Amino acid sequence: MKKIRSVSALLFCLLAASIACAQSPPRPDIVLRGTITGKQNHTYEMVPFDVPSGIVALTVTFHYTGHEQRTTIDLGLFDPQRFRGWSGGNKSTFTVSESNATPSYLPGPILPGTWKLILGVPNIRPGATSQYEADIYFARQDGEESFTDQPLRNGPAWYRGDLHMHTAHSDGSCLSQSGRKVPCPVFLTAQAASERGLDFIAVTDHNTDSHEDALRELQPYFDQLLFVPGREITTFWGHANLFGPTQFFDFRVGDTTTTRTLFERAEKLHAILSINHPNAPTGEECMGCGWTPQQQFDPRLVHVMEAVNGGDEDGPHASISFWEKYLDQGLRVTAIGGSDNHNAQIPAGKTNAIGRPETVVYADNLSVPSLLDAIRKGHVFVDLSASRDRILDVSVTDNQQMAKMGDALAAPANSTIAISAHLVACQGLLLRFLLDGQPVHALQTNIQQTEQVLALTLKADGKKHWLRPDVVTPEGRLVLLGNPIYLNYTESRE
Ligand SMILES: [Zn+2]
Ligand SMILES: [Zn+2]
Repeated sequence: MKKIRSVSALLFCLLAASIACAQSPPRPDIVLRGTITGKQNHTYEMVPFDVPSGIVALTVTFHYTGHEQRTTIDLGLFDPQRFRGWSGGNKSTFTVSESNATPSYLPGPILPGTWKLILGVPNIRPGATSQYEADIYFARQDGEESFTDQPLRNGPAWYRGDLHMHTAHSDGSCLSQSGRKVPCPVFLTAQAASERGLDFIAVTDHNTDSHEDALRELQPYFDQLLFVPGREITTFWGHANLFGPTQFFDFRVGDTTTTRTLFERAEKLHAILSINHPNAPTGEECMGCGWTPQQQFDPRLVHVMEAVNGGDEDGPHASISFWEKYLDQGLRVTAIGGSDNHNAQIPAGKTNAIGRPETVVYADNLSVPSLLDAIRKGHVFVDLSASRDRILDVSVTDNQQMAKMGDALAAPANSTIAISAHLVACQGLLLRFLLDGQPVHALQTNIQQTEQVLALTLKADGKKHWLRPDVVTPEGRLVLLGNPIYLNYTESRE
């Protein structure tokens, strides 16, 4: 059972993955009930409640009776030291946390001690009474935070997104109204992603989590574009995107902290830490960009890697060969992609434009926990062409089990592996399979229709292999990069 979070019943049930939970929404940690009478018109009631230590976010949900008599109760909040915001009568629920808060409220530490809910009474008629209830939910640190309390879309599907981009909160810049280069607001990033038909993005400013307050504000407006909490952990020995948590994550690899420590901490948080552009050069040109961790670094800690950065398979940051070296060591590592966009105004489809490349994820629904879960499992392909509709869906069976990209399949010697590839919007391109990195001639076929299912077979030799699909142009340029199916891997992934 996961920790109780400040989320709605729906998402909570989704996280707890329990059918019983569907009937039992999360219980508030504190319920404040009271009565406001006509005598309290034009006054403020301060309602205290205690917050224990170890809380990283709190959510207040407020209801009251008497609306039909025009009774109105406004809301505000003080923490033990200072004012934390006022939403008047415009919000019945709000969240405050260290890095982000619902608009009207201020992010900041969730200090233990006595907090006060401010109930302002702009109108209650003489003789009238109103019963109110404030439900308060506490959240403890969790690696799968979200700015929305329910999935933006239900049902399993391929969801497309961009997992690497920068804004004004680090080194993202764009042109202002009068054409000056200025720090680029988060809104432009979200708008560009939305116009390109993306379903999710992770804004990954360097080391900071200050962009999360903007995302908290933007999420209700962008109700078809899920924001995955992210940041680029930027060290002198390599960069890695952290997906999931919104709290401070110490990036200062140095004398006492190693790269290994970062991965162990991420694992403990149930967060994803994905190595970025590992093949990039390191030096004065791009400081700390290449992956050069200290010698004691254990590659088995890596479960996700940005194999495609900026949309080019052969640019300076291209890292498919680096990723495949990990696969050659027998490791199961999900390849993802990210634009590494630093300017939301780069036109669609250009190198480093938002959405080039896209990471396309087969998830149970459009929510942070489902997306991260599917990425961990490797149910992912990367679309280098920034299309809105290309699909590469591969499943294999040895007649006993079925496996999809990212899964393992027991493939005993002499068994026949049947491959089924479902392709959408890939006509004129070529589907090919790589076995341990080498193209298999018998597993190469032209794609002729807008939507097509291709069937292929492979004789198993009973040995450990990784088999992955690609879609390429007739000239051999990579269009879609598929994740491997792992043959005869005995160890479990997680
Ligand atoms: Zn980087
Ligand atoms: Zn970056």
